[in-house]
This record gives sequence, structure tokens and C-alpha cells, in this order.
Amino acid sequence: MTEKVILGNTGIKVTRLGFGGIPIQRVSEKEAVETVIHAIDRGVDFIDTSRAYTTSETRIGIALRETGKDIVLATKSQQHSADKMRRDVEISLKELQRDKIELYQCHFIRDFDVYKKITSRGGALEGLLKARDEGLIEHIGITSHSLDVLDRVIDDGLFETIMVCYSFLEPKAAERVIPRALANNIGVIVMKVFSGGVIDNARLAIKYALAPEGTVVIPGVESKEIFDENWEIYHGDPTLSRKEREEIRAIQSEFGKQFCRRCDYCQPCPEGIPIQHVIGIKSMVKRMGPDILQKGFPKIAIEQARNCTECGQCLERCPYELPIPELIKKTLEWVDEQLSGK
Ligand code: SF4
Ligand code: SF4
Repeated sequence: MTEKVILGNTGIKVTRLGFGGIPIQRVSEKEAVETVIHAIDRGVDFIDTSRAYTTSETRIGIALRETGKDIVLATKSQQHSADKMRRDVEISLKELQRDKIELYQCHFIRDFDVYKKITSRGGALEGLLKARDEGLIEHIGITSHSLDVLDRVIDDGLFETIMVCYSFLEPKAAERVIPRALANNIGVIVMKVFSGGVIDNARLAIKYALAPEGTVVIPGVESKEIFDENWEIYHGDPTLSRKEREEIRAIQSEFGKQFCRRCDYCQPCPEGIPIQHVIGIKSMVKRMGPDILQKGFPKIAIEQARNCTECGQCLERCPYELPIPELIKKTLEWVDEQLSGK
């Protein structure tokens, strides 16, 4: 499968498998730059990043300068006001070493209050429209974890593209948002193909994410090896076999709906608790054995978790409405049972 799609009314025509720029902030600059160059050399022509992904824009900028190849760049900012958004466009241009960015998105529109803020007078959308008039960006998109917000975005028609979570652990967008957006000529970019790293089977994740036609899918990539694996899957048979469907059903029933997507939107915790790691400790033990509870980072994380004051700040921030303090409590009970040898 190597077909290209056009992102709605933008006219941007790209390969369906793009490059997600979150994980390259976790590796060395050299590795990050080499990975981006490698992906572009293999044929990637759409890269997505964000002001929020620390070094990601800078590293992509270095890679683009080194390759000298022309690709479609998408980035985004979580600013809510026109002035701050306009300023972030300038920073992105500088970091990405570009005169123009093809797609600039309002990033992580959590709920209707934020949506109202960014689309009102003086809001982020106004800043992006100004940047577009000035020729700094070409098209304007929006990203959200909320299907309700994206439904409203489609109705209002103020944005040219949407970015939506879609994986076999979060499959609802295929019924609601994706078909409606495409029918309204709004470009669809699919994120969280691995549900924030919870899914560890690339073949299942990528095939499933590519199934609804007409979208661009952007799995996060931090190494050449991971890129090559994804790229090979993309070029292989797109059909999910019966066995693969069964594997997907097994993973779906293992996780249910309430699981942490490791997005870190719940941070910062005033007690410094690494929330996603604490509530993911059971699966860490499953993978690496119970000894990890008594050393290194997991041990420190558990100690920090004991300081949870149940202040509720994380609850307000988690887009998946996970009962975080309760999950922390249950995890600690489980950890204590393991440590006491019950
Ligand atoms: S409820 Fe606990 S984990 Fe959540 S922000 Fe407060 S202290 Fe941190
Ligand atoms: S608890 Fe919620 S906000 Fe925090 S990492 Fe998990 S899914 Fe994301």
C-alpha cells in the first residue's frame, strides 16, 4: 500500500503513513536527526510535531536542513490567545528552519471551554488566520482527544484538518468523527495509533489504524529500526487476517476502556508523582518481573506515590477521566501485597 491522500480542502497530497514527532525528543539529537533523515529518504513526506514536544521541532529543523528535501510539515501549539499563538508560529518557523509551515494546528483542545476560547475574538484561531494572511503558514488545523469537540469542529467548519485518536483500543472515531470529517472535506490525521505505547504490536496497530481510508496516520517514531518496521507493514498486505483480528480482540478484552494512554496530560503533579509509571507498574512487573519493585526508578516512583494527597489536580487534566488517585491507591495496595509475599 503506497497510495497518497489529499487532506480535505487543503489540497495537501501526502503518503498515508506519516511521521509522528513525539518520541524523537527522548533519544539523542544525533539519533533523532538520523531517524528523520532516514524516514524522508525512504519516502516519508509528512511530518508532524509540536511546540510542546521540547526538542522535536529543533531536531526536525536540523534534519530538514541536512536533507534539503521538500516535505509537508505540520506543527502545533497549545496557546489560547491570538498574540501568543502568532508568536509561537514565529518560534516554530525558526526552530524548523523554514519560511513557511504547511499546516499549523491548535493543539490539545481539551473541551468546549477551550474550543470557545480559541475560536472567540482574540483567540488562537485569530492568530493563525493572521499568520496565514502574512504567508507564514498555509493551512489551519486542530487536534483534540475529545470526539465531542471534534464533532463540533466538523459542524462549525472553521478548521481545515482535524487530528483524532484512533486505535483498536480507542476505535470510536471510525463510526463518528472520521467519516463525517471526510464527507465535509476536512482532512483527517490519525494519532495515538499505539494508544500512547500501550499497544506493543506494530503490525496490528498500524494495519488497524490504516483501515479507514482517506486518512493520514502518524505513528511516533524514535529510531530507524522502528521506522523500517512500520514502513514495511505499511507496504505489506493491509488486510487484517482472522488470526490478527482474534489477537486484537484478546488485547481489547485485556485492557477494557479504562487504561492509561501514557499521554502525561495529568502532569504536573504537585507531589512529583510520575502518575503514568505508577499506574502502569503492574504491566511493568508482568514484563520485567517483581524484582523491579525494589530497585531503581520503580521503587522511587512507588515511594513518591505514597505522598498522593488526593488533591484532584490530575483528575481535572486527564482527558480520559481516569480516577487517578483511586488507581494509585489500588496500585499501592497491590504493590504492598507483592512486597509482603501474599
Ligand atoms: S491527586 Fe495525587 S497524583 Fe493527582 S495531582 Fe494530586 S497528589 Fe498528584
Ligand atoms: S492518567 Fe490520564 S492524563 Fe495521565 S498519562 Fe494516563 S491517560 Fe494520560
